[in-house]
Amino acid sequence: MEKQYVYSFKEGNKDMKDILGGKGANLAEMTSIGLPVPSGFIISTEACKVFNENNKKLTDEINTQISKKLIELQNKMGKRFGDSKDPLLVSVRSGAAVSMPGMMDTILNLGLNDDTVEGLAEKTGNKRFAYDSYRRFIQMFGDVVMGVKHENFEKALESVKEEKEVEFDTELDEDDLYKVIELYKEAIQEEAGRLFPNDVYEQLDMAIGAVFASWDNDRANTYRRLNNIHGLIGTAVNVQSMVFGNMGDDSGTGVCFTRNPSNGENKFYGEFLMNAQGEDVVAGIRTPREIEELEKIMPENYKELVDIREKLEKHYKDMQDIEFTIEKGKLYILQTRNGKRTASSAVRIAVEMVEEGLISKEDALLKVEPGALDQLLHKQLDESDKKNAELLTKGLPASPGAAVGKIVFNAEDAKERAEKGEKVILVRIETSPEDIEGMNAAQGILTARGGMTSHAAVVARGMGKCCVAGCSGLVVNESKRIIEVGGGRFGEDSIITLDGSSGEVFAGKIKLIEPTLSGYFGKLMEWADEVRKLKVRTNADTPKDSQTAIKFGAEGIGLCRTEHMFFEADRIKAVREMILSDNKEGREKALAKILPMQKGDFYELFKVMDGRPVTIRFLDPPLHEFLPKEDSEIEELAEEMDVSVEKIKEKIEELHEFNPMLGHRGCRLAITYPEIAEMQSRAVFEAAVQVIEDGKTIIPEVMIPLVGNTKEFENQKEIVDRVAKEVMKENNVEFDYLVGTMIEVPRGAITADEIAEHAEFFSFGTNDLTQMGCGFSRDDSGRFLKEYVELGIYKNDPFQTLDQKGVGELMKIAIEKGKSVRKNIKLGICGEHGGDPSSIEFCHNIGLNYVSCSPYRVPIARLAAAHAALKEEKSKRMQMINEVVSDLKKQYGENVPLEKLEGILKSRVGWLCED
Ligand code: PEP
Ligand code: MG
Repeated sequence: MEKQYVYSFKEGNKDMKDILGGKGANLAEMTSIGLPVPSGFIISTEACKVFNENNKKLTDEINTQISKKLIELQNKMGKRFGDSKDPLLVSVRSGAAVSMPGMMDTILNLGLNDDTVEGLAEKTGNKRFAYDSYRRFIQMFGDVVMGVKHENFEKALESVKEEKEVEFDTELDEDDLYKVIELYKEAIQEEAGRLFPNDVYEQLDMAIGAVFASWDNDRANTYRRLNNIHGLIGTAVNVQSMVFGNMGDDSGTGVCFTRNPSNGENKFYGEFLMNAQGEDVVAGIRTPREIEELEKIMPENYKELVDIREKLEKHYKDMQDIEFTIEKGKLYILQTRNGKRTASSAVRIAVEMVEEGLISKEDALLKVEPGALDQLLHKQLDESDKKNAELLTKGLPASPGAAVGKIVFNAEDAKERAEKGEKVILVRIETSPEDIEGMNAAQGILTARGGMTSHAAVVARGMGKCCVAGCSGLVVNESKRIIEVGGGRFGEDSIITLDGSSGEVFAGKIKLIEPTLSGYFGKLMEWADEVRKLKVRTNADTPKDSQTAIKFGAEGIGLCRTEHMFFEADRIKAVREMILSDNKEGREKALAKILPMQKGDFYELFKVMDGRPVTIRFLDPPLHEFLPKEDSEIEELAEEMDVSVEKIKEKIEELHEFNPMLGHRGCRLAITYPEIAEMQSRAVFEAAVQVIEDGKTIIPEVMIPLVGNTKEFENQKEIVDRVAKEVMKENNVEFDYLVGTMIEVPRGAITADEIAEHAEFFSFGTNDLTQMGCGFSRDDSGRFLKEYVELGIYKNDPFQTLDQKGVGELMKIAIEKGKSVRKNIKLGICGEHGGDPSSIEFCHNIGLNYVSCSPYRVPIARLAAAHAALKEEKSKRMQMINEVVSDLKKQYGENVPLEKLEGILKSRVGWLCED
């Protein structure tokens, strides 16, 4: 049988996203649940793959299938493609398995030509509408399919408006539009070097080819790269009969969400325009009206829409983003998909859907992307500072959060200046998909036009960027690089502040403050804690950071980098004195100054952590990081140490290393200078004694860095144990403590069995393990890793997302070897990957006990850990079902009786799962 590449809407369903794309699968699904969807067919993503592999051409086999479906569609609609009396017109849209708003190209009104436009005019009795549709189609087709720049059409339209001395398109009549059409065609011929195709079949061929080709354009590639979308084979093409929202005052079009996408409130939310086509709403040229107003204008259609809202949510069990059109009083649903939403609305929607009995807690957890929680933790404006600020204007609160920065007027400037470290706000009349990288680089986005569903709003929400859109009080002159607002003029370099939650725009800089979290967030986190297996600790070195982390749910400190405690002005001198001393006595003298400070730090940390585990890592970084660089610092130090400036300079020279990351750092330092480990051990244990004397508990965990050889660890452990004994004896108390190691040197991972003979825990230092495992310098690889990712050599930056194949394998080896000698060895991770959702899933799967990450990533880690546990549970269930099914198949053949399957599953595990 020949392979099917083209499907009518009736032949698909929502589970066929990979083949039909998200849009196509949903159109098919909506058709099957009885919604009023204009008929059509879908050319599959597999056809896109064939197209791209076949020199950007479709095969005869696919073309034949398309022709057959087109005939079916004509029969269904009772209209003929290219018929000069009553033509069938279609839209041609892209739609990949993952939604990519604005990235791929769409063509509407395809099938119009010099003959059919007359038929449409006659049929609708509206010549102006027909010509306007034809004009729009030529423009869209010329732009998207034939590569003729938008401004050529703008110029043509402007010239006719100027000639007629009118301001708006709507003031043009049919004769004017006819002139515009002629000018458009001329522009195409001039720019594309060929005529606009009058043959409707040629139009369709070219449009399908353009959509398939657009899969590979820069915008789509950038979107996929920024959103980490990998592994898709292509886009599908949806060919659907057109319906018109611009057929007069009983027609209209709109976009709506089944719940508020900005704050999650369970209230129908959306925008519409009467007498308009779909792109008018999204492009933001006209500012749309709120959906409730439709009730007054077209009560029956509104009611039908509200019923559909309910039906869709029940069916998809998720918030939907719906596009609709009303053509002469008849409602059509053009599209539905899971709506993009802010993180706070995602959390609220998930929690409320559980409370409404629509979904389970597990489903609610899986509905919130862990990484999205970052948004919830975003800064807001300081209210008291805001009171004194100059409010310039107010637009739509398109995406929450707050941003301060200098004005830039285009995406390139935004990117360039952000790369130089400047904070910028991208100010545009309206944004387009080309602006995506600039939007990504900017702190916030401000647009003069567009509604809550405009490109700027949708993309900013997806990025978690603060955005104020549709700011009609703002005049943007992009070429002169000036904005006029609130009676003032602002140019590049002027600082403004945006409040994306209220839509306000202020002059100057307003203080930003930390966010507070809603009750919905607390509830979701509670549910996450119920299911996750991984513990979540934090990387923190100060009581303040530790407190923040506890507020976010941290269960301990997984990494206290003690060197961070050495940088304060009064300490750095003593540290430098220690480093630059020639002999043990000198070092001990300096260390004696540091000891009480370290002890005080640890005491405060232990107090804040209140019985939770605290891992103190001994001094790690290369010594040159502490050395004085300025002459004045060197002079000051020379005086303090009573030596000459030259001597200090000589010593600095002597300490210079060519490759400090692989040099005298980590345990190597304390092996050559054991007094450092002695001082740090004493500080830890004396602080512990003090805490115990306060009546509290603490079990300090001492962690030795950069161990690659068990002898290094044994050397250090001997010191730690000896000092612990001394401190116990001196204070006449007993306390428990653990001594473990970082696993961050590949040799350490490979010889983990030897190390585990002595170490009570392992914490994977995946920053260094990546550096040494992949051979990428942590300090220098940024320059080329971006390109590596773009080229697909690494799927992600391995310093952000764990390289599971390489570094992950080293971790697995260490775990297996470590457990072979110490079965219950405690295992954690404290590299940056401990806060990265997909790395956390890996950590769960390989059996770590905890992850440790920076305080602001703790909630993300809690949710990611829950996701990992749920996914594992789900795959176990699926495996069991498959086993039972295959057993039953042996008994009953292909048609296994469902009662039998249910009976066995119930008796085996006591539950029946929806899967
Ligand atoms: C690591 O190497 O992963 C680690 C946590 O240590 P640091 O980043 O301090 O080297
Ligand atoms: Mg390290």
